[in-house]
Amino acid sequence: MQYVTLNNGIEMPILGFGVFQIPAEDTEQAVTQALAAGYRLLDTAAAYENEEAVGRAIKNSGIPREELFVTTKLWVQDAPAEINTRRAFETSLNKLGLDFVDLYLMHQPYGDVYGQWRAMEALHREGLAKAIGVANFYPDRLVDLILNNEITPAVNQIETHPFFQRTADQELMAGHGVQIQSWGGFAEGKNDLFTNPVLAGIGQEHGKSVAQVVLRWLVQRGVVTIPKSIRPERMAENIDVFDFELTGEQMAAIATLDTGHTLFFDHHDPEMVTWLAQRRLNA
Ligand code: NAP
Repeated sequence: MQYVTLNNGIEMPILGFGVFQIPAEDTEQAVTQALAAGYRLLDTAAAYENEEAVGRAIKNSGIPREELFVTTKLWVQDAPAEINTRRAFETSLNKLGLDFVDLYLMHQPYGDVYGQWRAMEALHREGLAKAIGVANFYPDRLVDLILNNEITPAVNQIETHPFFQRTADQELMAGHGVQIQSWGGFAEGKNDLFTNPVLAGIGQEHGKSVAQVVLRWLVQRGVVTIPKSIRPERMAENIDVFDFELTGEQMAAIATLDTGHTLFFDHHDPEMVTWLAQRRLNA
């Protein structure tokens, strides 16, 4: 495994396991299999409603806590954020059965962002979140948050895949010391990613699958990635990307696939903002 060093000195595996859209009843088994396959970074969220199952898998694995890197996320909460953020964090921590998380992310750039961030800063200072960061922040919001607060987010977890590559965003984040992390690295298979001829052709040259080419491309760009799969054979495939290297030509060929647009949802769309705001957790 390779690691990246976050802006507060914490080491984070560059490749981990995401559990979005794994039903709670299947999550314990999936995480148990992922840990057996060698994953040590686990990415969940209050909004995924499977933190308890992730916690059970961690506990039953017997893997020392210091070998794991556990991320969870704060959902858009009601004001006053100072109270609700701590309550939401404690709920997540209890569900996970942990004393601390390695990374706590603000899941969406909405609601009382500043109140939430100040509460997250306090959790970090108390050692309850070894690192704090954000998700789905476009550059304007990210820079504003950085300029007007004490702690710079360690990570920004954003949609990043071959059809939405985020190279300029990555550069901007690097300039501020913010580590880029990809969500939806396979674009959840959209745009026929797994049969894309450019990616398949490169895979053939290395004897690797399209999934492995995509993950290798992210790793080579220094992007932390968290592929999701419920199938053990794919979990093994997705972590097996550290024994080959894409050439400059192959990286350039993948660069041509960028559309510069989201394949999921537009965070600037008022309907989207409204839809997300209506989701209430821990009510
Ligand atoms: P993803 O990793 O891009 O794609 C997952 C899909 O790819 C699943 O349908 C999976 O099917 C399939 N797959 C996995 N490995 C494969 C392989 N080797 N060959 C063929 N198909 C394969 O999608 P994602 O789950 O949306 O994103 C990854 C993680 O990012 C999430 O789990 C979550 O932790 C995080 N995330 C964060 C946000 C955010 O707002 N911060 C949003 C979305 C996701 P099977 O399961 O059937 O194998």
